[in-house]
Amino acid sequence: MSNLDRQATPSLCGGRAFVVAEPVRELLSPRRVPLGESSEVRRLLPNLGRRMVGAWAFVDHYGPDDIADEPGMQVPPHPHMGLQTVSWLHEGEVLHRDSTGSRQTVRPRELGLMTSGRAISHSEESPRPHARYLHGAQLWVALPDAHRHIDPHFEHHADLPTVTAPGLTATVILGDLDGAVSPGAAYTPLVGADLTLTAGAEASVPLDPDWEYAVLAMSGETHVDGVPVLPGSMLYLGCGRTALPLRAASDAALMLLGGEPFEEEIVMWWNFVGRSHEEIEAARTDWTTGTRFGEVHGYDGGRLPAPELPPVALKPRGRVR
Ligand code: MN
Repeated sequence: MSNLDRQATPSLCGGRAFVVAEPVRELLSPRRVPLGESSEVRRLLPNLGRRMVGAWAFVDHYGPDDIADEPGMQVPPHPHMGLQTVSWLHEGEVLHRDSTGSRQTVRPRELGLMTSGRAISHSEESPRPHARYLHGAQLWVALPDAHRHIDPHFEHHADLPTVTAPGLTATVILGDLDGAVSPGAAYTPLVGADLTLTAGAEASVPLDPDWEYAVLAMSGETHVDGVPVLPGSMLYLGCGRTALPLRAASDAALMLLGGEPFEEEIVMWWNFVGRSHEEIEAARTDWTTGTRFGEVHGYDGGRLPAPELPPVALKPRGRVR
């Protein structure tokens, strides 16, 4: 998905300064961003008080939306740099096309993982015909300096490892959880997992005390470490935990996001992650002039224009590892 916010503001993220070393329960409210004419997404990251969780730098939750009589998701070709996109659906399907020639329909609980490396462009649309409901999350992972200039590629994994406990099934989307490792390429130590809970479940998920974590509620009634988290909200948990207690009053689903604190300082603007204003400006120019980001074939419509850069130069924060 693209950041369709026409008032795209820069985010300066990363670095230890924002990481909370001990366990906390910080409830993040979503910011509502219009998506097309009839739907909206709820943006959890970046958030006013919280920019990243490990290398996770962007989290949008959308739906469930009834799109029976609508085109559904229609995101025209747009560029990415310096990040990975994770498409994760609970209902519906998304047809992905990109400038490396990929054309893939992603279905519920299948991983669509696009590694932009230095440059890629893609489109995402609800296929025709499509399921009645669309419900999912779009997440971005910042690439570390050592890998952010690699060749772009797309992966689709329909068969993901699971970890189970009474009342709980955890599907490992990216990274690893309790020894189960996703087949998707990961470039920093992290985890993204889908947690399905049955009504009445009381379960615990093992965590790494050196990592920071957050939980996004997708559906149902849950308590995460005792805190009720409504669907479309996210609870930031900090570091220092060895386990996370979960309780479900109804059938419910959560997404667990975590990882080693991302110590490199990044500049994030629109659909780009870079390290300086100049890099972001060059990426914007290359998209506008049609260089570097390639061509998406088969999408019925034009490319997404880049928003204007803010008049003030984007500066990374002082401390750099
Ligand atoms: Mn995108």
